[in-house]
Amino acid sequence: MIPLELYDKNEIRSFLEKQNFVFKKSLGQNFLIDGSVAPRMAAVAADGDTGVIEIGPGAGVLTKELCARAKRVVAVEIDKSLEPVLKKTLANTENVRLIFGDVLKADLAAVIKESFAGCSRVTVCANLPYYITSPIITGLLKQKLPIESITVMVQKEAAERICAPVGSRSAGAVTALIAYYAKAERLFPVPKGSFLPPPKVDSEVIKLSLLASPPVKVMDEEFFFKTVNACFALRRKTAINSISNALGVGKETLKEIFARIGIDETARGENFDMETLAALSAEIKKHLQNG
Ligand code: SAM
Repeated sequence: MIPLELYDKNEIRSFLEKQNFVFKKSLGQNFLIDGSVAPRMAAVAADGDTGVIEIGPGAGVLTKELCARAKRVVAVEIDKSLEPVLKKTLANTENVRLIFGDVLKADLAAVIKESFAGCSRVTVCANLPYYITSPIITGLLKQKLPIESITVMVQKEAAERICAPVGSRSAGAVTALIAYYAKAERLFPVPKGSFLPPPKVDSEVIKLSLLASPPVKVMDEEFFFKTVNACFALRRKTAINSISNALGVGKETLKEIFARIGIDETARGENFDMETLAALSAEIKKHLQNG
């Protein structure tokens, strides 16, 4: 178990000061001080056969809980000044490997091969730095890593958007992109007071369970994602205006395509389900190829 002082605001603050650590807002450094959250997240993400990738271990609160349950944990932290901190908080923890670097640049496929050979499944678990929530999640999914699930803490608003049904008002481009790869579910809320320093917004833990195959057939995935982004690029405009502006396709052509697929020309991106987005992408691509 974590020594209790890691969850005590004053003790963790003075411990970090002694290690010459200074919080960097620019790196989204809000550390968990609520003792109930990390064990709950770790219980979802890890068991004795699991290899876990943690992104941003910070002072190691979640790392320690993951190590207690998983076969092996690899934690990727961008801030090298946390090395002395983690050396102390993870002392006597045998099954952890720390990598100091930017997770967006890390070769995670190689990490999985090197570190999780004896594990029967691989998961990702993290209290994410909020300034790069979407790039991290979409990057993990687009790399098609052999991972089973992603259990992460994100801002409450991001959780609402990511887990909204595609085709509903709260959906955005990221909703459809994630739905192409995974089933998203909201697990539990985490109030801002659970962190040091407290962020401005509340948080939520979500779980993405990766699908064995995508829910729709798409010939060109990159163009599909481009179309999805184009549909939501101008949120207050109709999808025709938004797509025309983003992809440079004429509005009259788009009206014809919409009619062919059976979409109302005043529809917005939030009205489209996955099948409609896939059909739209295929038709626009066909048009662009035929000049
Ligand atoms: N896991 C710790 C906890 O729950 O208390 C810290 C979470 S804090 C919200 C996010 C962590 O991600 C910080 O330690 C920060 O330095 C790290 N981080 C920020 N950007 C990163 C990046 N690009 N790659 C890896 N780690 C990053």
